[in-house]
Amino acid sequence: MTYRIMIEGTVQGVGFRPFIYQLASQFKLSGTVHNGVQGVEIIVSCSEEELEYFTQAITRRLPPLSSIDTLEVAQIESRDFSDFQILKSDNSGEKTARIPPDVSICSECEKELFDPSSRRYGYPFITCTHCGVRYSIIYDLPYDRVNTSMKFFKMCKACEEEYTNPLDRRYHAQPIGCWECGPTLKLIDSVGRDVPAPTILDKTVELLSEGKIIAVKGVGGYHLMCDATNEEAILKLRERKQRPTKPFAVMVKDIEMARELGEISTHEEELLSSKERPIVIVGERAPRPTGIAPNISRIGLFLPYTPLHLLILDKLQCPLVATSANVTDEPICTNLEDLEKLQGVYDYALEHNRDIVNGCDDSVVMVVGEQEVILRRARGYAPVSIKLPFTLKHHVLAMGANQKSTIAIGFENQAILSPHIGDLDSIGSVEYYEKNIKTLERMYGFQADVIVHDKHPYYESTKYAKRCVGKRNLREVQHHYAHILSVMAEKQLAGKVFGVAFDGTGYGDDGNLWGGEFMVCDYKGYERIAYLNYFKLLGGDKAIKEPRRVAFSILFDLYGEEALAMQNPTTKAFSEVELRTHFTAWQKGLNAPLSSSVGRLFDAVASLLGICQVMSFEGESGMLLEELYDDSIEGYYGFEYKEGKIDFLPMIEALLTEPNASVAVSKFFHTLVEMIAVVYAPYDLPLVLSGGVFQNRVLLALVYERFPEAMISNAIPPNDGGIALGQILYDISS
Ligand code: ZN
Ligand code: ZN
Ligand code: FE
Repeated sequence: MTYRIMIEGTVQGVGFRPFIYQLASQFKLSGTVHNGVQGVEIIVSCSEEELEYFTQAITRRLPPLSSIDTLEVAQIESRDFSDFQILKSDNSGEKTARIPPDVSICSECEKELFDPSSRRYGYPFITCTHCGVRYSIIYDLPYDRVNTSMKFFKMCKACEEEYTNPLDRRYHAQPIGCWECGPTLKLIDSVGRDVPAPTILDKTVELLSEGKIIAVKGVGGYHLMCDATNEEAILKLRERKQRPTKPFAVMVKDIEMARELGEISTHEEELLSSKERPIVIVGERAPRPTGIAPNISRIGLFLPYTPLHLLILDKLQCPLVATSANVTDEPICTNLEDLEKLQGVYDYALEHNRDIVNGCDDSVVMVVGEQEVILRRARGYAPVSIKLPFTLKHHVLAMGANQKSTIAIGFENQAILSPHIGDLDSIGSVEYYEKNIKTLERMYGFQADVIVHDKHPYYESTKYAKRCVGKRNLREVQHHYAHILSVMAEKQLAGKVFGVAFDGTGYGDDGNLWGGEFMVCDYKGYERIAYLNYFKLLGGDKAIKEPRRVAFSILFDLYGEEALAMQNPTTKAFSEVELRTHFTAWQKGLNAPLSSSVGRLFDAVASLLGICQVMSFEGESGMLLEELYDDSIEGYYGFEYKEGKIDFLPMIEALLTEPNASVAVSKFFHTLVEMIAVVYAPYDLPLVLSGGVFQNRVLLALVYERFPEAMISNAIPPNDGGIALGQILYDISS
């Protein structure tokens, strides 16, 4: 009898076909296997019993990078095969196969890299079927060499032999190459001139040791790298990049070196050495150069994930600052032309000639208690396919939000979420955003009939949705509802949930800037149960960067004009004239939108306690508050909860009389947890948390302590990077 086995999931570019080939030879089965646009198709002629053993073996012995969503068997017309063969890819039909993410170097390739007897000894682009670049080099599906930027390299004889031998570890490893035939390195100075050196890597390492800043082309873009033990080099990088305090990530040679810099739990160690190798934010172990993360006792570490990084760190033997190379507000640089915009920032660039087709930042993860929280989902994870709890009625394109944007496409019961694209604050970033949309559409042959966007009329994503809508249907979804929906999608929740969205700002149904929202949600819609009492954001967008403006506005709410005469860190952060101007703006409501944002409440508290007046990066005030939290301090401040409104002014009043900042901060955190407890108390529904404020590890840990059953998304970010997924789900309700 002959059977067709259709397998969907992560089954392309992961050594799946040779795995099937080897399995079939072992079972002495005849037939074929090939990649289709929907996954892998196997035809075998065998008995029913043999089929049973064969399919069981497939699911049990999967290659390391693969996973199966569905495996369907159908009996077809009997055919005779003389042997088992791997056939060419099939490009017809609807494309639903997955784009495989980029994977870090595997242990076998690492061994060969440092083995003088290997023909790829020291080759910075060594790879095999079980590791290496994928998404970042793909133009189109299916994932074959001709559809990647490796098509420009003609394989040498030795590589071709490995590539065509189903029993070789490099069988159909699309980025295969060697010293003879593959990509090569080049070192250039800041104006693009070749730097002569007998060996490029030795020269690079020498320059790094001298404190030079080097732009290094990696997987999804360039990093700016410098010696992480050299305070002067770090400060030079901060100055040149005009990035005064935002923490830098540090690449370490191995787990041992990671332990010298950070306190690392078993869970964090697993993440650090996982095949995705994200940046993991861990507790620091002093001392280390203060320039890495000024005033913050946590540090973002990651392990080398390419042979090139491994070689550099092996020679250098010390940690490296490795931060994405990009112009402020622009996407990550992926080619020399982009990089030239950073002339003056880097001293040299370590370049190679394998094109980056799809830019992709490093992913960022943290562990809070038992929970893994992904803060940026990109290299190693993205693009990701998420199975939805329902079947969609339409082909949906979701535009995401405006900050930390991602986009998603949805069809049938799956959603594909793009990697982190970034903030849409510049023309360059909007272009990059559009490119990401087109890439996903092209690769999946996807055409949307519904486009979903955020309710905010001025988000670039909203404007783009309106520009490209054509004859398609346009729908808008409230920002915080989308936040809660994103968790419901990931956790496959059905029925009603109690959602808590603690966020920066999102456009509300009443036109105000929401962000301290308690809502009962299902897929049909939501009811806003409670929210933080509105306060004014003096200066609109400016207030988002200046905690002092929010704090001052709240002081006016409490004390009116008398606030002008008060002596505290907030009032001291303004001049006489500014104080007056802000009072008038507050009184008349001039450029002072109303907000219920918990994120802004964090800012206000940070300003009142003299911790932060003007932020140099998003989320800074929250991180600084974390530093002051003391878990030995108990108690919370009073607040009033009436008719769906939480009046937090009593808390501010009490906080102003507290001489010890650590006490004030700790009680502030406890008060937020108490607010959740009070509003949630009458509801017997699952508790769902989302919004950027839950990136705060202290708050999240406290909420979990109180409500161990609470749910936050683990596979997608709780910040606006998860919004696109939530928007996809909106299709069900409409
Ligand atoms: Zn490998
Ligand atoms: Zn070769
Ligand atoms: Fe948000």
